[in-house]
Amino acid sequence: MHDVIVIGAGFAGCSAAREIRRAGKRPLILEGNDRIGGRTWTAHWDGQQFERGGNFFHWFQPHVWSEIVAAGCTPVAMPQSPRSAWLVGGELRTGSHLDREEIAQRAWNAYNEGSEQILPFPFTPLAHPERIRRLDKMTIEERINELDLDSDERAVMVGEGEGVASGHLDDAGALTVMRWHALSGHNLPSTQAAAGQIMIEEGTIAFLQPILDAAACELRLETPVAAVEQSADRVIITTRAGESISAEAVVVTVPLNVLHDIAFEPSLSELKQGGIALGQAGIGSKLLLKVKGPSEIVSALADDHPFGFVDTIFELDGDEQILVCFGRDGDEIRDRDIAWAQQQLDRLAPGFTVTGMNFHDWKADEFAQGTWAAHRPGWYTTYHAEMQRPEGRVIFANSDLADGWAGFVDGAIESGIRGGRWAAAAAA
Ligand SMILES: Cc1cc2nc3c(=O)[nH]c(=O)nc-3n(C[C@H](O)[C@H](O)[C@H](O)COP(=O)(O)OP(=O)(O)OC[C@H]3O[C@@H](n4cnc5c(N)ncnc54)[C@H](O)[C@@H]3O)c2cc1C
Repeated sequence: MHDVIVIGAGFAGCSAAREIRRAGKRPLILEGNDRIGGRTWTAHWDGQQFERGGNFFHWFQPHVWSEIVAAGCTPVAMPQSPRSAWLVGGELRTGSHLDREEIAQRAWNAYNEGSEQILPFPFTPLAHPERIRRLDKMTIEERINELDLDSDERAVMVGEGEGVASGHLDDAGALTVMRWHALSGHNLPSTQAAAGQIMIEEGTIAFLQPILDAAACELRLETPVAAVEQSADRVIITTRAGESISAEAVVVTVPLNVLHDIAFEPSLSELKQGGIALGQAGIGSKLLLKVKGPSEIVSALADDHPFGFVDTIFELDGDEQILVCFGRDGDEIRDRDIAWAQQQLDRLAPGFTVTGMNFHDWKADEFAQGTWAAHRPGWYTTYHAEMQRPEGRVIFANSDLADGWAGFVDGAIESGIRGGRWAAAAAA
């Protein structure tokens, strides 16, 4: 019998395994995919290294920054543009970066008014449940509708909101935006810096692999788990291929939106079943476009557009660059349809010719079923604490369940450390 089985080899799973090893127990990791990393994925496109998933990190994020430092990795900044564009009701406005920021800050600050009182300890989201109750019942759209915004402020806030939610604003919970804001020190420029400006030159794999190495454990790739059965003295994991493996405890690190694909015996608590049925609303897109055109850095933001955010991520030789586009719904992207991509880009950043597209559909990916966590209304006050609560020898950990930077790699490590510690204790 194994000490602890960890299901999933993303940052949460590898961090849990390392923690289990540190506690003197032997972990075994079962990963459904043919690679480690989960919703992070360092890849290559025409010789350019890039990230298909998690990409931006910041020293405000204590768990991930510590790993980046320990791995000796190099932070690099996204190219910054002095010019900005934003779409308002289909009409393109342009101005300086500061022009758009002033509009964004008016809307953002109105949205987040009172955040210091509502979320004074953002790493303890339930410190004052009564203070978050009102926002936790609302969608981002409902919160925006309460504010007295002019058309530019509203359009820019919708774009920012979709950027946070990676989803539809009538689906994602209003608290998601305020959590990012509070975690970043209660202001918009810091939130933008924390969530979208600093990349790691060596790639996410360069600080994930050392975590896995420190776990010094067996990893089985292409081994999706179908069922988790618990008895008084063990758990029995059944893989999709029908193999049964026993352990003293299990850490389940699959994404919240994937949990419904695993059968639990005995059934999980009714509240956990409710949390799994609710899932999370981050179902958006991250699309890379290779373009030719003027040597200027692109920074555009849109409401009601399949791209949402469009920014230069890599400047290439000559007149080529790569743009990163974040949209609200993976289904809205027509992969490999260059003519369609050109049409969409022309509405936001005219003057460029699209020469290539690179897209991974995280919404359709069976092992992700979404991008990053944007919790739906009701999550925090009803389900968050319960989803973290171990059920005997079955322990849940994932970025989607983190207390602090839920939806980020930082949250995955935080949750993995906690889950690994609990699992090692359960296996004692
Ligand atoms: C497009 C995109 C952009 C992002 N941008 C950022 C960013 O800039 N900064 C940031 O910090 N975060 C970002 N994130 C979020 C971040 O990548 C995730 O929150 C984090 O990687 C989640 O880690 P995790 O280990 O909790 O879950 P995951 O990485 O999802 O790991 C879960 C693992 O479980 C495996 N699995 C699933 N089902 C099974 C099964 N049945 N059996 C066995 N294994 C299974 C999966 O294959 C996966 O490896 C982004 C995510 C996406 C998709």
